[in-house]
Amino acid sequence: MFRRRLSVLVATAALAMGTAACGGGTSSSGGGLAASAKPAGYAMTQATNIPASPTLDAIKSRGKIVIGTKFDQPLFGLKNPVTGNIDGFDAELSRLLAKRVLGDDKKIDFVETVSKNREDFIEQGKVDAVIATYTINDARKQRVGFAGPYYLAGQDIMVKKDNTTIKSVTDLNGKKVSSVQGSTSEQNIKSKAPQAQVLLFDTYTTAGEALRDGRVDAESTDNVILLGLVDKNPDAFKLVGAPFTQEPYGIGLKKADTVFRNFVNDTLAEAEKNGDWQKAYAATAGKVDPKPPTPPAIDRY
Ligand code: GLU
Repeated sequence: MFRRRLSVLVATAALAMGTAACGGGTSSSGGGLAASAKPAGYAMTQATNIPASPTLDAIKSRGKIVIGTKFDQPLFGLKNPVTGNIDGFDAELSRLLAKRVLGDDKKIDFVETVSKNREDFIEQGKVDAVIATYTINDARKQRVGFAGPYYLAGQDIMVKKDNTTIKSVTDLNGKKVSSVQGSTSEQNIKSKAPQAQVLLFDTYTTAGEALRDGRVDAESTDNVILLGLVDKNPDAFKLVGAPFTQEPYGIGLKKADTVFRNFVNDTLAEAEKNGDWQKAYAATAGKVDPKPPTPPAIDRY
């Protein structure tokens, strides 16, 4: 029953997304599956000859890496209320990075970041890296550096299950739409549906509450985030399945620390080569994705 519902959801989403979002055909477990699906045995080992860099030196002397991630996004970063663990693809990539720097994937402090504070947290040194469904773009590159991309999402729309009028981004004109402050999603709706009335929240979960309450007609952000919310609320919400942007996810870092950026890119490349990326994906977002995506090419700018 559960499986069938997921596969219908995934098939619908995958069909609708076409090539715009190769990583999109996923759904979450509603909490249980992703939490219990920890990948067994990564191949990643501690790097020999870790270069000197401000961030790498700080991580080594602290004996822990501090990662900013989302705590309320199924599939990518979701805090388990019982264990306190962070589950999801972003959390697993964090573990691989901890393993490569410190030789231990448990030596991580996860700090919750929301969309609007990611650049601030990086600039202020509150985190060593942000791994949080974080789209790489030129405006953000003015303030922070990006390793990756490691995944390609696309912005989509979520509506109430009985909605039949919103089928594409232009249908949002004249409608009320929720999204999150400081996200590319906010900016994309404003440019692609300028007549939409956009209500902004701090997190995608609270933006979803506005849809449930009827304060808005739709919520818009990356397809993989919405699929996680649809899966948690299958009787209330559905994905429209008409992606209208490309959202390459990167790992946000201090802009000036090029050595650390190279190190993180090397870690991603290693994980893609040794199968750890695929294992991490399969145990999280890919748990319900019939066709695992190919990781996008790393941009070593
Ligand atoms: N990927 C988009 C962004 O970085 C939307 C998701 C998010 O806010 O984390 O803004």
